[in-house]
Amino acid sequence: MAKIGFLGLGEMGTPMATRLLRAGHELVVWNRSPERTAPLANEGAAVASSPAKAASGAELIITMLATPEALEQVLFGSDGLATALTPGQVLIDMSTVGPDEVRSAAARLPEGTTLVDAPVRGSVPQATSGRLEVFVGATDEHFERVRPLLELLGTVRHVGGPGAGAAMKLVANLVLGAAIVTLGEALALGDALDLEPGLVLDALADSPIGPIVKAKRANVESGDFTPSFKLRHAAKDLRLVTEAAAARRRELRQATANRSSLDDAAARGAADLDFSAVVATIRGRNS
Ligand code: NAP
Repeated sequence: MAKIGFLGLGEMGTPMATRLLRAGHELVVWNRSPERTAPLANEGAAVASSPAKAASGAELIITMLATPEALEQVLFGSDGLATALTPGQVLIDMSTVGPDEVRSAAARLPEGTTLVDAPVRGSVPQATSGRLEVFVGATDEHFERVRPLLELLGTVRHVGGPGAGAAMKLVANLVLGAAIVTLGEALALGDALDLEPGLVLDALADSPIGPIVKAKRANVESGDFTPSFKLRHAAKDLRLVTEAAAARRRELRQATANRSSLDDAAARGAADLDFSAVVATIRGRNS
C-alpha cells in the first residue's frame, strides 16, 4: 500500500479520500480550511499544515480542487506543492480545470515530476460508492502507474495523452450543462402552456434528457437544492468550455447560451446551491 497525499476535501474530495484510506492506503491530507480535515483525521489520516508538507514522502499526490485558480494557488503559491515535488513523484489532478491549465501547470513543475489529469464524471453518491467515471490523460507508462489507485474510485478510461482527460471532461460537461438548461426551459414552456408540471416531468423522463430528469426530479419538485454539484462549478465548467472553444476559433452557440443561463442563476443567488437550481431560476424569470 502506497503513501498518498490528498489535497482538497470538498464535497467530492472527502468521500474519495475516505475510500482510499479505507482501502488501506496511508493518507496525508491537506485542505485550505483546516476544519474540513477532521472527518479524515478521525479515520486515521495524517493532516499536513501546507500543500508542500502533504507531498513529502508520498508516492502519488491527488488534488481535487474547485477551479484552475485554486489549482494554481495550491501548486505555485507559498508552501505550494511545486516547491516540494521531487523527481519520480506523480501528481494526479482530478479537479475540472480544462486541458489548457493542465498543460500549463505541467510545464512549470520541477523536472522529473509528472502531472496526470484524471477528472471525474459522477457526483457525491458515485464518489462515495466508488462508481465514478475517471477520464485519464497520460502516457501509457504513467497511466499504468496510476490505474490501480484510480480503480478504487470507479471506472478508469485512458482517453489520450497528457491533457486529454481534462479535455474529455469539458466535452462531457458541455452536455450536462445543455441537459439541465433544457430541462429548465422545457418546464418553463410547460408552465406557459398551462401543463401540469408532474405530467411534463413524466413525459421528459422518456425523452433524450431522461437521465437528468431522473437524477434531479426530486430537487425540482421539492425546491430543495442542497448542493451535490454546486452551480458555481457548473458555471465555471461552461466558462472553461467556451474559453477552450474560443481559443481554438470554434463557435459553440448553444454552450454560450447555456453558460449565460448558469451565470444568470449564480447572479440571482444560486451559486452555492445545486446546479439544478438553474431550473428554478429559468422558470422564475419566465413566470
Ligand atoms: P467543493 O465542495 O466546492 O470543494 C472545493 C475544494 O477546493 C475545497 O477543498 C476548497 O477548499 C478548495 N479550494 C477552493 N478554492 C481554493 C483555493 N483558492 N486554494 C486552495 N483550495 C481551494 O467542490 P467539489 O464539489 O468537491 O468539486 C471539486 C472539483 O470536482 C471541481 O473542479 C468540480 O467542478 C469537480 N466535480 C464536482 C462534482 C460534484 O458533483 N460535486 C462532480 C464532478 C466533478 P475550502 O474547503 O477551504 O473551501
